[in-house]
Amino acid sequence: MPIYVYRCLDCGLSHEIRHGFDETYDGTCDACRGVVRKYFGEVHIAASATPTRGTHDGKEINWAGTKAKERAKEKDMEAYKRLRSEGIQPKGIDGSAYVERHAGSKWEVQSGTVLTGEKKDIRRKERNLDTILGD
Ligand SMILES: [Zn+2]
Repeated sequence: MPIYVYRCLDCGLSHEIRHGFDETYDGTCDACRGVVRKYFGEVHIAASATPTRGTHDGKEINWAGTKAKERAKEKDMEAYKRLRSEGIQPKGIDGSAYVERHAGSKWEVQSGTVLTGEKKDIRRKERNLDTILGD
């Protein structure tokens, strides 16, 4: 059976769905429960990620950079979903992969601020975040 790419109309996440030629997938987006539609464009290249560096100067289009951006976006979305499933609400989807990897506490994830520096400095910042988030 062929694999079709469906894209969420709400968050832009792409889903690879395997089904027959004469079938349609009518599920929803894994991430946000949004409506997904079959994507007929070039697979994995979002319109928003269209390279600005054209071929007018003889240079190759930067497809690798475009794909890297797409991958980073998907990693952010995966991390966002994982954090949400753990009951943690990240500040946003963008940068979720970074905070998941580097944050030492859920306060850091929720505020979108990863604490770095001296131990005592981190404790001071954590107390500040405590106050802000009221947790
Ligand atoms: Zn979605």
